[in-house]
Amino acid sequence: MKIAVFNQNRLGVVQNEEIFDVTEAVAWDTQNVQSSLVALMTHFSEWKGKMADAMHAAPRHSLSQVKLQAPVPNPSKILAAPVNYLSHQQEMNEQFQNAPYTVEKLRLFLKAPSSIIGPDETILLPYPDRRHDHEAELAFVIGKEAKDVKASEAASYIFGYFALLDITLRGEEERTWRKSFDTFTPIGPWIVTADEVGDPHTLQMDLWVNEELRQSANTSKLICDCYKCLEIASHAMRLYPGDIITTGTPEGVGEIVKGDKVRIRIERIGEFSVEVDWK
Ligand code: MN
Repeated sequence: MKIAVFNQNRLGVVQNEEIFDVTEAVAWDTQNVQSSLVALMTHFSEWKGKMADAMHAAPRHSLSQVKLQAPVPNPSKILAAPVNYLSHQQEMNEQFQNAPYTVEKLRLFLKAPSSIIGPDETILLPYPDRRHDHEAELAFVIGKEAKDVKASEAASYIFGYFALLDITLRGEEERTWRKSFDTFTPIGPWIVTADEVGDPHTLQMDLWVNEELRQSANTSKLICDCYKCLEIASHAMRLYPGDIITTGTPEGVGEIVKGDKVRIRIERIGEFSVEVDWK
C-alpha cells in the first residue's frame, strides 16, 4: 500500500495516478500527523482493511491536483549512513580526499528532524557562495520499537520505504551541522509498505537536476544494506516507531544552485521533484 499525507494533513492511499482520501476511515488526527502515523503503523493489520474498504466510497483526487506533504514529518531522529556505496567513496576521495572509511567503520550520523520537508516544497540554500550538493537515498521508517535487533530480524521492524534527498553543505563544519539546515531533507512522495516493496536491495534509483541524469545506481550496491543499518543503529540507540534511517548515496553527487529542479525516482516507490532557491 502507498500511504500519503496531503492537503492539510489528510491521509491518502495512492493507486495509479489517484489519491483516495481515507482520513475518516481510521483514527487519523489531522492535528498531529506524526502520532497518527505511529498509530497507523501500530494498528496496521487492523487499519489496512478499513482503509482498503473505504477506498470504494472515498473522495478521490488526481495526484496532480493535490499537495503532497512529508509522509514522516517529525521523527524522534533521522539516522543516516555516511559512505555506503563504494562508488561514492571513490568520488569523494577524488574530489575532496576526505573519505578514507565507509559506514562499516564510521557507523551512522544524526540529521535534525526539523530539516524535513515534503515533496512539493522548496530547498533553501543558506550560502550563495558555497557548494551545496544533492544526495539521492533510499530511506525507511521504523514500524515498532527496536533495540539490539540483528540484521536477520530487522525486516519486521521496517514499516515502509520512501525516497530521501540528503542535502549537504560541503565544508569543514561537523557533518551533522552541514546536513541539518531547514529544508535539507526532502522526503516522499509517500510511504510504500514493506510488503509492496519486496526486496529493498534490488531497487534502481535515479536523480536528475534539470532533467540531466546525475545519479543512477541500484540498491544492490549498498555496503551495509537496510537490515544491517538497522542493526548498527539499534545497537547504539533505541529506535522508536516513526524514526527514519536513510541508507546513503551512490556516485554522481553534485552541486545544486538557485533555480534548479531536483528529481528523484526509486523503482517500486515513486518519484518527486523539488525546486531550489536561496534562503
Ligand atoms: Mn547522505
